[in-house]
Amino acid sequence: MKMTVKLKFFVLLALGMLLLCGFSGRDPVEDMEEFIFELTKYTKRVEGKKYIALTFDDGPNMISTPLLLDILDETNVKATFFVLGELAEQFPDVIKRMAEAGHEIGNHSYKHLELPTLSKTKIASQLDYTNLCLLDITGKRPRLMRPPFGSVNKNVVSVASEKDMAVILWTIDPKDWLITNSAAIANKVIKNAEDGAIVLLHDAHKPSALAAKAIIEELKKQDFEFLTVSDLIHMDRGLEFGAVYKDSKGTIDKWKTSR
Ligand SMILES: [Zn+2]
Repeated sequence: MKMTVKLKFFVLLALGMLLLCGFSGRDPVEDMEEFIFELTKYTKRVEGKKYIALTFDDGPNMISTPLLLDILDETNVKATFFVLGELAEQFPDVIKRMAEAGHEIGNHSYKHLELPTLSKTKIASQLDYTNLCLLDITGKRPRLMRPPFGSVNKNVVSVASEKDMAVILWTIDPKDWLITNSAAIANKVIKNAEDGAIVLLHDAHKPSALAAKAIIEELKKQDFEFLTVSDLIHMDRGLEFGAVYKDSKGTIDKWKTSR
């Protein structure tokens, strides 16, 4: 079989990566898989289109999370879930369903604690337990974390950076957990929708799961495309571990630390 120039380039690149990984002591197979994933997966910006990411915190549970997953299936939208380790352990089948449907799963700590009040060791445990649990269920280690309550300080960012994770905040917060009317939640999101935005919702709150349908239907009419958070960030800036993002361009950078 004749190799195309492109294929030859790719094979050489792959060999180079394997060699480098050998010296760095990292798992070459895992690094290679991530590298190929980077090359092939991410969406390229199309002129005139708008892009947005829906994120859902505090799950999974057995009632509103599956309901939301049905809505995302029907509307063919990929979202990002920031899950709690202790709930992921209780409901592994829901996590498995999220992963199999192509949604992104991020780390929302193990027990929803206010991370800046903890020591660095305890912050690390909150991330590690959840990462291990998600790795065990899905075979993939999360690269994104969202601190409970959006509470960030230097220690939180520094631990995230040590674990090769990016810190994800949000652009639009409708305070959905205070609202029982799903149309009111949807309207708040639709009114504030903008290109590159990250929307904060809670799948533990049933009206928010129901609001997703109206949000998706209306914003699709307005030429928005829904992406996972990693995909959204890769399109505009690229995902950097230890950086803090509140939108696709990573508007907040003040907590960025060097390792
Ligand atoms: Zn939360």
